[in-house]
Amino acid sequence: MSDAYQSENVEKSWADKEALSVRSIAGVIVSTLSIDTSKNPLFKEQPVLFYWQQALDSLKDRITSHNYELWISPIRYLGDQDDQITLQVPNTFIRDWVEEHYWPLILEKIFGFTNKKYRLLWVVREDFSETQEEYAQNLKNEELAQKKIISSPKDVTAFLPNYTFENFVVGPSNQLAEAACRAICEQPASKYNPLFIYGGVGLGKTHLLHAVGQSLQKKHPQWRVVYLKSETFINEYIQAIRTQKIDDFRKKYREYPDVLLVDDIQYLGGKERTQDEFFHTFNTLFENRKQIVMTADKYPHEIQDLEERLCSRFQWGLIADIQVPDLETKLAILMMKADAQKIHLPIEVAQYLAKNIRSNVRELEGCLLRLSTLASLKKMPLTVDFAEDTLKSVISSQQVLSIDFVQQEVARYFRISTADLKGIRRTAQLARARQIAMYLARKLCQASYPELGAQFGGKDHTTVLSACRKIESLLKDQADLRQVIREIERGLLA
Ligand code: ADP
Ligand code: MG
Repeated sequence: MSDAYQSENVEKSWADKEALSVRSIAGVIVSTLSIDTSKNPLFKEQPVLFYWQQALDSLKDRITSHNYELWISPIRYLGDQDDQITLQVPNTFIRDWVEEHYWPLILEKIFGFTNKKYRLLWVVREDFSETQEEYAQNLKNEELAQKKIISSPKDVTAFLPNYTFENFVVGPSNQLAEAACRAICEQPASKYNPLFIYGGVGLGKTHLLHAVGQSLQKKHPQWRVVYLKSETFINEYIQAIRTQKIDDFRKKYREYPDVLLVDDIQYLGGKERTQDEFFHTFNTLFENRKQIVMTADKYPHEIQDLEERLCSRFQWGLIADIQVPDLETKLAILMMKADAQKIHLPIEVAQYLAKNIRSNVRELEGCLLRLSTLASLKKMPLTVDFAEDTLKSVISSQQVLSIDFVQQEVARYFRISTADLKGIRRTAQLARARQIAMYLARKLCQASYPELGAQFGGKDHTTVLSACRKIESLLKDQADLRQVIREIERGLLA
């Protein structure tokens, strides 16, 4: 544990995320941390605030003063009652960061002193100057809201209130997925069943899935809309076998849902028995005309060790991909997020971010919040210079290569011309070089299959897809090929 303490990047798993259930309503996050109770002989009754301060003191010794100032100082201890501590933070970024990196450590420390399970209430409010009365009223509202969550039936899914269609910016990179999601909400279980959405991390898959869930729940309040991550399905299935409660498990997923939304289905890859279970879950729901929506970070056929029969079922309805958004979409997202967080974002700073943050929307959002938090802490204006200075390291690690460059390097390595590489001649050596170039371009250029096809002499996207799959499967057992690809990649990234 002391290693974890010393590290600024404390592992999430260490905090036992399972025990940390986070639900959110109207900007208020309620977290419940369950810690095992065991006797602690050192326990002496003191105000909880005293232990809170002790915990912070101990944290101060272990993290840099810069990080302490940035993340811990803005937290305000609002009070405690029974087994609940209430804390105020000025924005969700600080809350999320603290929750992920420092919160488990603080709580562990308090537990060490008090031997008591505390429930936590986060109050996210920028204004620190409310009167005691306002605070009491707000707290009451929050407690009411919290009670509402806790007393709702266990199986009712809590959706993130911000993840709605209204808050989702549509552009060429995601319009198919968004349109399909909206169509499902109009006519569930008809045309697009199942809907399979795939795309890289942080591009809005979970956002869309929640939007579908919330919209359907609103339209059909009596429906049972079930959202879950595939890991939950896997874990619950294993648990059900262990405790011989498989009938309950089947009821829960085959009979109960009117709509099943499964996030990150790629984790089923390699889990044979769970796949078998999911196969039957899928069939039962599908036969009963229930809508199924799944997301993954890959196209079904790219998911490793996914049974063919599941793969084919995933393609029965519609497959929609989400790509990295273009500049205009990124700008629109930034402006919308800034607006929602009440951040004054000058357009030239937004342009700078949109142009330079190329990986995904989550990163874009993170950079915006980091900038605004730092600017307000340092009392500096949010300018392009400030952004450049603050995000130097993030931006330099974001190099995206051009497809042209990858083609040139692969051609050079195999001593062939780029025209041949992009052409249609199919000698064994050319074909292999082409497949490798397509594989590397897909991996390093953040381009879609159709885009890659176009850049490889106007080929169909399925050609690129099968080239990538071919190389991926060869890579599993051909050490020579792994070496070749490593060498080319080294050259490309040098
Ligand atoms: P994924 O599930 O694909 O990894 P998320 O759905 O978690 O990504 O999205 C990451 C963040 O980016 C979320 O805060 C989400 O609201 C935001 N986001 C992604 N795409 C959009 C978009 N088109 N419009 C608005 N916000 C978006
Ligand atoms: Mg997600």
